[in-house]
Amino acid sequence: MKAQLSTAPRVFTALPLAIDPAEVLRFQGYKKDVDVPSGEVLAIFEEALALGRRLLTPRVVYRAVAVTGGAADRIDAGGERLHIPQIARLWGSIDAVGAGICTVGEAIEGQVRELFDAREFPLAVMLDSVGSAAAESLAEYANDLLCQQGLRAGTRVTNRISPGYAGWDTAEQVALFRLCPGDAIGVRLNEACFMTPGKSISWLVGIGPEARVDHYFTQCRRCWMRDCAYRRAPAETTVRHPGGGVW
Ligand code: SF4
Repeated sequence: MKAQLSTAPRVFTALPLAIDPAEVLRFQGYKKDVDVPSGEVLAIFEEALALGRRLLTPRVVYRAVAVTGGAADRIDAGGERLHIPQIARLWGSIDAVGAGICTVGEAIEGQVRELFDAREFPLAVMLDSVGSAAAESLAEYANDLLCQQGLRAGTRVTNRISPGYAGWDTAEQVALFRLCPGDAIGVRLNEACFMTPGKSISWLVGIGPEARVDHYFTQCRRCWMRDCAYRRAPAETTVRHPGGGVW
């Protein structure tokens, strides 16, 4: 996925996924290091994970666009005007933005509905959480890969942000989708700006040699790129990576 500066939308498939059990349980309402799941819950988790593996079809579409203007709370790029609180302070000077959408597909949601219809509620809810954790894992993987490729190319890539979070209005999903259309990977927006399939995440990163990446002290701790020469902090992630565990 050599894409950090690709100006044409590019689609990526056959991507690795790692499901963090702690992340799945967080979606289930468990508090890390406080709530201890029972053996029964862990058995349901393993069953949902095995089911999820067969149903997940990870896909990413991504496009980088030059920044043409901006202000303290605004980025202009690709003919769009994005209003993101404090973005100039958070990201510093950037040359481009990268807009991305990722999804794990809709099969998992169909299976969740079938399980609900069959009144298999614990497995249905756990499978739904596996799908959410997988989508999160995919977005993190894309962000980490862009970060590493950016550093190799002499530029920096910030942490991702998404409409609906940190004060960025959900309605700006529409502008984000104009920057990077989701139809290439089968992701659509409805009138309420929610994505279908539901297990999808849209995001934006800032790109530039002077971009602020001090948050990578946190990012590096859970980054996929274990052998990254630019790592600022040792990996502490609980994610079990391909070859090392979950898949
Ligand atoms: S280890 Fe840190 S610097 Fe390297 S790719 Fe990951 S987040 Fe970026």
